[in-house]
Formats: sequence, structure tokens, C-alpha cells
Amino acid sequence: MRLDDVRDDLTDVLLTEEQIHDKIAELARRIEADYAGRKPLLVGVLKGAVMVMADLARELRMHIDMDWMAVSSYGAGTKSSGVVRILKDLDTDLSGRDVLIVEDIIDSGLTLSWLLGNLQSRGAASVKICALLRKPDAAKVEVDVEYIGFDIPNDFVVGYGLDYAESYRNLRGVAVLAPHVYE
Ligand code: 5GP
Ligand code: MG
Ligand code: MG
Repeated sequence: MRLDDVRDDLTDVLLTEEQIHDKIAELARRIEADYAGRKPLLVGVLKGAVMVMADLARELRMHIDMDWMAVSSYGAGTKSSGVVRILKDLDTDLSGRDVLIVEDIIDSGLTLSWLLGNLQSRGAASVKICALLRKPDAAKVEVDVEYIGFDIPNDFVVGYGLDYAESYRNLRGVAVLAPHVYE
């Protein structure tokens, strides 16, 4: 789906398909250099990271393994609480592996901070993070992110894997959702 197809639902367009593509290529070159001679395991966090994973994995000119996790954050409201439950665990044994967590967005950082600790405790040789988006003004915990695509304002965004009520994930760009959609 193109940004123009749902333009009335969006306020600011933050990232076009082209900008995302170029950034993923840039990140891929760094990952290739950093993991040269190794075969990292890319761990995608469902469902938001599906698009980043699909594009990053195909952009990488090296062998990788791919696996997926699904987690949910418990909490009173819609905000992440930091208490995380695993809905779908990895199929892969992490002992001695170089793990690269692939995420769509870092908001409070609570989910990722928990995930980082969880994967590190499984005997991985290294655990690093690649996230396409980050909201610096929303951070509740500092998470050390090796590969970051874009810093964005503290607004609710959709597209490129990110949903509102499961819609807009298939939008090719990233944009701020207009308040009239959810109010
Ligand atoms: P955190 O634990 O960092 O607060 O939340 C991470 C998760 O919340 C993300 O992986 C994503 O699924 C969701 N999230 C955070 N900010 C946004 C946003 O602006 N738009 C959408 N659609 N999801 C978001
Ligand atoms: Mg996510
Ligand atoms: Mg969501």
C-alpha cells in the first residue's frame, strides 16, 4: 500500500520507501563488515519487524540464519510495562551464536531491554540490536543499540510493519497517524 492510498489517515510522512531502502542498505554494509567471517543469527520480533527483517536479510551479502520471537508486554494501558511474556520462543539454540535482534521501533525501550537480557542469558557469544526507528524522547531505559536507522519524534507512527489495530503494516513508508483515525 502506498502513502497516497491512505493519505487522509496520515499527518506527517516521516519516511518514504526510498529513504528506508537507502538506510537499510547502509546498515547492511556495516553489518557485513562487523560480522565478516561469521554467520550471525538474526532474531526478528513479531510482528512489527517483519518488513525490516525481509529487506535487511535480502540486502545482506553474507550467510545468515533467521529466527523469530513473539512477545507481549503486560500492562494496564496501551503502554509498554517492561513485564514481558514470550508468546513464541526461538527454535534456535543460542550457545556460542552471534545474535542480532531486529526490531521495528524503540519507544520506551522496556521490551528490548528485557529481550536483550533474556537472550544474553542463553549463552550467546554476542547479542546486538538493529532497529529501524527510535523515539529518543520516549526512552524510559537506555538500551545500547548498535545499528539504528532513524530517530523520530514522539508521535504514534504506522507503516513498514508498524500497525494501528493490525492495519497499516503493509504501508510502504512510515507516517504519523492522524488523530481522527483513533479518536
Ligand atoms: P517499547 O517497549 O520500546 O515501549 O515498545 C516497543 C513496541 O511498541 C514496538 O516494538 C512496537 O510494537 C510498539 N510501538 C511503540 N511505538 C509505536 C508507534 O509509534 N507505532 C506503532 N504502531 N507501534 C509502536
Ligand atoms: Mg517491535
Ligand atoms: Mg502494534
